[in-house]
Amino acid sequence: MDKKLENYTIVDNAKGKAMIALKDFNIGEIISRDKNYLVGTAKETSDNALQIGKDKFVDVAPGDDNNFVNHSCNANVKYDTNIFGYIAIKPIKKDDEITIDYEDYEDDMIQFNVDFDCLCHESNCRGRIVGKKMREKYGKNY
Ligand SMILES: [Zn+2]
Repeated sequence: MDKKLENYTIVDNAKGKAMIALKDFNIGEIISRDKNYLVGTAKETSDNALQIGKDKFVDVAPGDDNNFVNHSCNANVKYDTNIFGYIAIKPIKKDDEITIDYEDYEDDMIQFNVDFDCLCHESNCRGRIVGKKMREKYGKNY
């Protein structure tokens, strides 16, 4: 019987826990779907929820591996609300960290006190991650 190839593993790194690819992925391939999640308003969801609409957030249950997809300013996946999961937007190599750009989703992370100093170390790193509306308001170097 074939053993199903695992897509990823969860490790500890400088950011805390992180999702690491266990194989190569092509653009458009599904990495991981949320297993247990709630869709609701900001008031109905936790600080960990990802914004997917004007006041619509998806909140992955504690312990779901998808909690460990960290931010990068040079992300390699997007969150897709058709599958409630992460899809490769760049070719991903085995051992690469799976990352999403929070500022593609979140409007204002400051109001929820979830803005933070980015640790991605990419050449295009924006520094403090504040959400797309706040970045438009305050400019590139928040
Ligand atoms: Zn960064």
